[in-house]
Amino acid sequence: MSGQQGFPPGQGGPNPWAQQAAPWGPQGQGFSPGAPGAAPFRTPAVPDGEITMEEVELPWPVNTVPNACACCNGPAQSQLLTQSTAQIGRTTQTRSLQVPYCARCAEHVRAGGRRGSGLGFLGFFVALPVPLALMLLWDYAPWFVVIPAATLGALGALAMLEALWKAKPVAREQGCHACEQPAFWMQSFAFNGPTVKFRAVNPRWMEQLARTYNARPARIGPQKPGRARWVAAPLCATLAAIPLWFAMHGHVYFDNPSNDTLVFDVDDGCETVTVLPGAHADMWLPSGNTRVAVRRGAQTVETIRGEVGHWSTHAVTPLGITCYGVQQRAYGTAHITGRGFEPAPEGLRWHTLEHIGLVFEPFPRSVSVGRGQTGSIRRRFGRVNCGYGSAY
Ligand SMILES: [Zn+2]
Ligand SMILES: [Zn+2]
Repeated sequence: MSGQQGFPPGQGGPNPWAQQAAPWGPQGQGFSPGAPGAAPFRTPAVPDGEITMEEVELPWPVNTVPNACACCNGPAQSQLLTQSTAQIGRTTQTRSLQVPYCARCAEHVRAGGRRGSGLGFLGFFVALPVPLALMLLWDYAPWFVVIPAATLGALGALAMLEALWKAKPVAREQGCHACEQPAFWMQSFAFNGPTVKFRAVNPRWMEQLARTYNARPARIGPQKPGRARWVAAPLCATLAAIPLWFAMHGHVYFDNPSNDTLVFDVDDGCETVTVLPGAHADMWLPSGNTRVAVRRGAQTVETIRGEVGHWSTHAVTPLGITCYGVQQRAYGTAHITGRGFEPAPEGLRWHTLEHIGLVFEPFPRSVSVGRGQTGSIRRRFGRVNCGYGSAY
């Protein structure tokens, strides 16, 4: 879009402001597109078009702003807040400024904000079923496929939603410089810094502001305006896909109490794991019924069935040549009430473990506790001496 090109009336649907007489329009005291001496600039004719910005650094606090609409230079009838935050360590500092707009421009800037956050939320919610569907259709979809699927799902959903939900273009002949984004905003400042950087898309308004402070605006662009939703929605969808993945999987431990190497074959080769004599292994398996064939060499010695829960922990204990159970150990001032040992039912091959911190791993020598705590109890599932209930 060239800067001198007019905006054809009627394009992009009915214009709610078309009937309104604009006293600050081209004939009025306001901006005129081709006025001699007016700085050449590019105006967004469409919401996602490129924009040219002006940046200026002003001493803080800024007490005087031009008494005109920051978007169209019309009468100041309304105010919109612009703010920015600076941070040092955990301390944040916020600075804000009220920016004058005419009623019409305040409304199109607000509408742009609503569309932006609306698209962001919709993009996020439309994207979430993508990893879910993938896990339901493909049980053994690995996390490195499921989680990026959420990111791509959000990007795809945003592209689709943006095409469906288009913003009304703002008529340039009415003097608007901004479309969806604010016409003037606080860009950044240094923590406790004496100045603040501002950006504007209306060179005339910016010129007036800068003159008050004897500052010189610098030109930036033309460039595509940054859209927070294109970062926020994919990021949130990606982060949400992580607990979703865990919710659709269980952590399964495989024990080998024998003197031979065992191979655990899960769901006919969907996963296989080789466990050395006396050792154990673990993996995340998809929720649902599962069948584990235990092989010694070429021979299948046992088939164990179980149900993998959601974000659950399980142990597979083949052969039945030893006993298993849950032991507790107290650290610091903590005391174990009741029995410190719960044997697992004899002969059970598939265990669902709840509130167990250690599976087959030995108790640690010491544990660290949270602030204000003086002791802690750890629970462990593992092999135990069949007669006494102590560790194997
Ligand atoms: Zn305005
Ligand atoms: Zn406007």
